[in-house]
Amino acid sequence: MLTPKVLVIGIDGIRPDVLMDVHTPHIDRLAAEGILTNQAMTGYPSVSGPGWSSMLNGVWPDKHGVTDNSFDGERYNDFPDFLTRIEQIRPELETFAVADWAPLGYSDQGSPTISDAVDVKHVLDGYELGWAEADAKSVQLAVEQLETSNPDALFVYLGNPDEISHEHSSIGSEYRDAIALADEHVGVLVKAVRDRVTYPEEDWLILSSTDHGRRSDGGHGGNSEEERTIYFLANGPSVIATTPPDSTYIVDVAVTALTHLRIQIDPSWRLDGKPVGILR
Ligand SMILES: [Zn+2]
Repeated sequence: MLTPKVLVIGIDGIRPDVLMDVHTPHIDRLAAEGILTNQAMTGYPSVSGPGWSSMLNGVWPDKHGVTDNSFDGERYNDFPDFLTRIEQIRPELETFAVADWAPLGYSDQGSPTISDAVDVKHVLDGYELGWAEADAKSVQLAVEQLETSNPDALFVYLGNPDEISHEHSSIGSEYRDAIALADEHVGVLVKAVRDRVTYPEEDWLILSSTDHGRRSDGGHGGNSEEERTIYFLANGPSVIATTPPDSTYIVDVAVTALTHLRIQIDPSWRLDGKPVGILR
């Protein structure tokens, strides 16, 4: 039997209609081989703190408690990120996370979104390094892990497109260029997965999604369709659906990742997501 493994690539603030319009050959190839819906939904408010918490932890804000980027009220001990779930159930598995939006991995007041139970966690500061440089560094760290170790579950966060859109208050050329650059990063990550010496014995599920969309002025946080519509991508030999699934939500990412790793979802965890694109 092939060894199940999962790579989750989270790209901040991607409007699916813009993603579909920009030349993104690597994401397009993953979608053509797998499934992609540009009609998935994030929660409300459509901001990063609650969005990433819902994606990584598989529950809506009424459970994880995060409703803004202060992270006040977080209940991550009750609703941990999926990598921490893996460590709780199958500590022998190797987990990896890298994020250049520091609050996802570091908190000086309570738990960060991605806990310290994760085997290898890199927290970079995109504000300090520059977001394009920080994303490149994040990808490099993930590639090194794939080349030199044996990770079973990875989360790689790319923050540059969101920051660029905010900087220019637009979804125009700068934002589109940032999406194209993120696609190149996706290509590098996929190549590193497929270049692994042990790849023929592995069953990689590659998931990608985003925490929220945005308005045409670059802003987000509201309840509009353009702010709440997101994409969901799944690729790998275990992906079975041939048409994009209806009613896909951000909370489905974590549950899909756990299910692929054969981790039985315990009803007492009260997760809100469901596996998408793979058999239960
Ligand atoms: Zn965001």
